[in-house]
Amino acid sequence: MAGNSWPSILGDIFSNGMAANGQTWYSCPVSTELECIVMDWCCKFLGLPQFFLSTYSEPRSHGQGILQCSASEAIFYSMVWAREDAVRQLRARFPTKKEDPVNGKSRAELLNMLVAYCNNECHCCVERAAMMGCVRIRKLKADKKGVVRSTTLMNAIEEDMEKGLIPFFHCAIIGSTGVTSYDDLMEVGPVCEKYSIWLHVDAAYSGSAFCCPELAYLKQGYEYVWSTNINTNKWMMCNFEASLHWVRYRTKALAAFAGPKWEKTTYKYPNNVPPDLKHYGVASSRRLRAFKLYCVIRNYGVEGIRRYIRNHISLAGCLKPYVERDQDLSFVVDRSVLGYNSLTQKLNDAINASHKIHMVPSHFHDKVVIRFALCAEYANERDVDDAWNAIDHHATEILHMAQEELKNDRAMRDTFMQQRKHDIHFDYFPHPDHTEKLAEAKQVAKDLEKSIHEDALIKDADNTAVDGSWGHGDPDAFSNYDKKLRDNPEMVRFNWEEDYLRTEDPEVFKVASMLHLAMLQRTVANSPFNKKGKGKSRYSNDF
Ligand SMILES: *Cc1c(COP(=O)(O)O)cnc(C)c1O
Repeated sequence: MAGNSWPSILGDIFSNGMAANGQTWYSCPVSTELECIVMDWCCKFLGLPQFFLSTYSEPRSHGQGILQCSASEAIFYSMVWAREDAVRQLRARFPTKKEDPVNGKSRAELLNMLVAYCNNECHCCVERAAMMGCVRIRKLKADKKGVVRSTTLMNAIEEDMEKGLIPFFHCAIIGSTGVTSYDDLMEVGPVCEKYSIWLHVDAAYSGSAFCCPELAYLKQGYEYVWSTNINTNKWMMCNFEASLHWVRYRTKALAAFAGPKWEKTTYKYPNNVPPDLKHYGVASSRRLRAFKLYCVIRNYGVEGIRRYIRNHISLAGCLKPYVERDQDLSFVVDRSVLGYNSLTQKLNDAINASHKIHMVPSHFHDKVVIRFALCAEYANERDVDDAWNAIDHHATEILHMAQEELKNDRAMRDTFMQQRKHDIHFDYFPHPDHTEKLAEAKQVAKDLEKSIHEDALIKDADNTAVDGSWGHGDPDAFSNYDKKLRDNPEMVRFNWEEDYLRTEDPEVFKVASMLHLAMLQRTVANSPFNKKGKGKSRYSNDF
């Protein structure tokens, strides 16, 4: 999503004209003060915890809001703040090498003990942050709804602690980019608290929706959060760059970036003087980013922003019945679109090549999905209808082509069945790379045969004339097989052209041919032409 609006554009032009440099408060007080004020406004109207407010408006608070260039930066900074906090704590436990050459630990050794976690549905910038932050990161498996359960987090922590590692950071997501899934902070929050883990919430994609009181349930558990980020340039009518970033204890951020200089002397502010925001990021010079956000908030007001968000949510609802009625398309995780990865990707490419609408693909549990995201301020129901017509048109075309391919494959299959039926002798020969592995392959073949006998579907495949495709190199054709087979690298060796015809062993030959039939069966079973029970498909299953 990429937001924009005229107040934001004008605000940006104006700040460029001012060429303000908000490096320190002294260099341009309005830059720093406006940023603190606007960040506090956002914190309040998004309904985030008070502890994020800066001392500027809430003297009892220990927090700070900063406008970063991007969510990626915000997450990187949060991770480094957490890292430095953890290193400080470890330093209290371990002396330096200088102090104690035997038991002392170098900084590199301390860093090497740290482990960060994130939901595996996280944006790729989280992993990049860990790479740049020189810490290991473990992606935790999300469940079918894209949520990391507290038991998953707890098990990872316990496992790593057993290995002598120190868990220090967890990045949860509220609104994943792929499928808008939501972690449950009420679940992971207490776990992070128990193990003193810095809980960061990446709400870049959909956090702007927090301003609607009816969506307050999404924020449950925010009281456990140590830092968070929301992109107003995604869903709050701001143009780039405008990533809201809050930290609960600004001293931790300052201790990491401002260093000993800040701790010792100059940077201690009385409560009503805002801080130097350059200490919350890499750059020393800072643009006056807050002004466009100020213009957007003043122009639309809180109610205007809510109206905008609600309009988009209701428009997404307009697409829902179209997809629900369609036999060939479906939703992933209650929201987000074709059974086959390759076909989904083709559909996405065709839609984008049409230049009518632009859609971005994503992955969810090994499935390619297409995301439908509304961005334009004045989007309306007609736009959704137009978008649906484009999707429908291209899906029809893609499926038609796939059907033609399937017909060709069927002709190949028929030839194969014919040969098999008459027990035609294949002119096969041993492949030099495989002969020595034949004994091994035989064992695999035996195991496979056993499992095939236990699998009704595959047994059935052996006797039935099955409709289907060879998969023609389609990775889906493999990904849909029995997990047992897929996980077994040996299976790939039974590939039609490569190995199968080259085997010397009748037993391997037999199993391999059964496998091929099984593949056909599976391919057909998972084919988009085979779905039943929904509305009318673009094509009947008549071949
Ligand atoms: C878009 C997005 C990001 C990255 O945002 P940038 O501002 O482009 O760095 C990170 N996390 C989530 C959840 C996002 O949707």
